[in-house]
Amino acid sequence: MIPMRLKAEIPPIVEPAVVRLRDSAAPPNEWADNQAYLIGREGSLRDYDFQGFSLRIDAPDNERLDGDVVLLLPQQNIAHRLIRAGSNHNTFLVTERCDQLCAMCSQPPKRHHVDLFPLFEQAAKLAPRGATVGLSGGEPTLYKQQLFRFLRVVHEERPDLRFHILSNGQHFNNADLETMRSLPHDQILWGIPLYAPDAVVHDEIVGKAGAFDALMAGFTLLLKAGAAIELRTVVMTTNAQDLPELAHFIATNLPYCSTWAIMQLEPIGYGRKNWDRLFFDSSVSFTPISRAINIAAARGIDASLYNFPLCTVPSAYRSFAPSTISDWKRKYLSFCDECSLRRICGGFFEWYDSNKGFMRAGAI
Ligand code: SF4
Repeated sequence: MIPMRLKAEIPPIVEPAVVRLRDSAAPPNEWADNQAYLIGREGSLRDYDFQGFSLRIDAPDNERLDGDVVLLLPQQNIAHRLIRAGSNHNTFLVTERCDQLCAMCSQPPKRHHVDLFPLFEQAAKLAPRGATVGLSGGEPTLYKQQLFRFLRVVHEERPDLRFHILSNGQHFNNADLETMRSLPHDQILWGIPLYAPDAVVHDEIVGKAGAFDALMAGFTLLLKAGAAIELRTVVMTTNAQDLPELAHFIATNLPYCSTWAIMQLEPIGYGRKNWDRLFFDSSVSFTPISRAINIAAARGIDASLYNFPLCTVPSAYRSFAPSTISDWKRKYLSFCDECSLRRICGGFFEWYDSNKGFMRAGAI
């Protein structure tokens, strides 16, 4: 697993610092204040010059850190990797608060919130050119004014960046419309979950009465604002049989959505706690998924399968299943070594337990 927190000896800072690590003493540029330059290396230890102070980071030999953006917190001997320059999977955890309690939540909510938007703003401005930055939670739009500001301010300085925002889509109102219209929608994709074509099942899954109706109102506002939307549906035992009907619902009511992602369950957080009850083994029962994809395709909806190992998907549907598991939490099993699909397969979540997972994984 790729380490996201690195042991460090940090300078005597009194405020959090966002720092870009450089392997060479490149000429200073407009972000020079935030640069730390590599001045020595011994074993796993790398020494940087950060504004005349010493910053020492302990990282595995094969970990490339050049261009990474790390967060240093006072009196914490850890460098938090906010952006890995060589990765397409960089996400800022905006908040751990949420107003839902989804049965499969991979990041169970907490009450406490620390506003890191100003630090995320600095980090985004230091991202590699053309990067996509994910914003996730909790529910980011609980802090929608800070979020809107972040998007505007970062876009002003870095119009090359794209953003992918995971949100439950329920916290917009008419008063937000003008601000929402001013956002750089060409650069933003909103990833919004919809679990069923009716309120009863959807609300039960997200643990919040009224969520479905609030979400439909949110879709209307996002549409009026010109937002691009990626619908996301985690398939579980509780909604798998509804997928074909959900495909019809989306084609009829939400045809403007850019894509519909049908997703496998992530075995972490509540997803792990409720795994035995919720995991839908699509390797032995793919029919509701294939029917949903067929309906979506016939009605002009661009459907995809996220987090599905390719060997668990019938060959006719593998082209719908891109590699989507983030690199830092992806693994392959021993039988993957000889697999001809490995180069294009997203594998398994790091925390996947093959003893209670897909019955037919590994057979192509
Ligand atoms: S055997 Fe491994 S690499 Fe091959 S399709 Fe399955 S999960 Fe992917």
